[in-house]
Amino acid sequence: MLRRGDLDGYDPSGEPGGDLDRDADLEAPDGGGSRIRCPRCGWLPRAESLWSCTCLHAWNTFDTGGRCPAGGRQWLETACLRCHRWSKHRDWYVDEE
Ligand SMILES: [Zn+2]
Ligand SMILES: [Zn+2]
Repeated sequence: MLRRGDLDGYDPSGEPGGDLDRDADLEAPDGGGSRIRCPRCGWLPRAESLWSCTCLHAWNTFDTGGRCPAGGRQWLETACLRCHRWSKHRDWYVDEE
């Protein structure tokens, strides 16, 4: 299983039962009923996560819906910064039931 040791405030030793529910202790920062995670590995991007465009501009691609604010390129797929695999940008958005 994947560990979240790189996330602030996550203490694996503090889990009483060892039951890893990846949604249990993380809430979407905007609370808008949807969250963003890698469709392949479940990694949760942070506000300070940065993606690099072909024009070498670096920004948080989820701030702009996958559009480079410098060159205006629309990225239809987004690479995971953890597993480095590409997924459709919209597949990163998970709607909560
Ligand atoms: Zn660009
Ligand atoms: Zn991933």
